[in-house]
Amino acid sequence: MVRLRHIVGGLLLCLACTIAVSIFFAFSLLNPTQSCLFPSVTKGKIRYNSDWGSHQLALIVPFRDRFEELLVFAPYMQNFLNEQKIKHKIFIINQVDQHRFNRASLINVGHLQSREECDYLAMHDIDLLPLNPALNYSYPEGGPFHIASPDLHPRYHYRTFVGGILLLTREDFELVNGLSNKYWGWGLEDDELYARMKKAKLNISRPKDINTGQKNTFKHIHDTKKRKRDTARLYNQREATRWRDHQTGLNTVQYRVVSKHKLMIDEASMTVINVELICNYTVTPWCDHKSVKSSKHRR
Ligand code: UDP
Ligand code: MN
Repeated sequence: MVRLRHIVGGLLLCLACTIAVSIFFAFSLLNPTQSCLFPSVTKGKIRYNSDWGSHQLALIVPFRDRFEELLVFAPYMQNFLNEQKIKHKIFIINQVDQHRFNRASLINVGHLQSREECDYLAMHDIDLLPLNPALNYSYPEGGPFHIASPDLHPRYHYRTFVGGILLLTREDFELVNGLSNKYWGWGLEDDELYARMKKAKLNISRPKDINTGQKNTFKHIHDTKKRKRDTARLYNQREATRWRDHQTGLNTVQYRVVSKHKLMIDEASMTVINVELICNYTVTPWCDHKSVKSSKHRR
């Protein structure tokens, strides 16, 4: 009699457990943060469902002294890409040397540092936020995909503009030997990249059927008083950076990784890579502002 009571009690316990487990799974399927829309994150590791595809994007952000923009950018982009089910990793390539800013070299470094994990990249300005969810960040099979199209960018409207946000497969990036390392200071490195892509006969495409125009497709969070562009042209910089560079690129970028950090801002995770770029003074004597050079000489 006692044994029978034990058996019945055991069976009831099993039944109760089965019901509890079923209810738990039913609820987790209904919860969007765990199932369809967003990947689940456990101890910093992201788990994606199979419908997110096999490609993984490296969001490469050339960076220096833009902390306030980063606070907005990283959570915004993570959410934007999750909505599109784009597997991605954010890499902040932080230039920590004393040279002038070099966006192109930082992107070359970003590629080298992320290529094991990701099969395509977006070179992405930190201050340009895509507003229209129809801007598609998926794998650019057909060649470079220029998201920040001149028809849509709030500031740059010339036909050959490829700056701001550009997607490329690893293979295409390597085919053009990345970007020139000669562009210290602001501007023109993206125009030089256009020349490389044209020479390699890559087919550059841009978003179609976007009806939000130049005012409402992107938000350019750039206070030009606070974030002054470094437009100085030193030594023979102007002449030497006017034409296509056959000398430098991905295969000549010189740098040192000082440190790497995993960073979370709100729910967004990223890798910050502190990088010292190394300047070849013979090729690009304009990599320092004169004040930096003279203070070095004084020491
Ligand atoms: N940038 C940076 N620190 C600088 C200069 C530029 O981080 O001191 C990065 C940042 O990602 C920025 C991008 O380079 O969005 C392009 O620079 P900027 O915004 O000055 O160019 P714009 O497209 O506004 O002319
Ligand atoms: Mn800007």
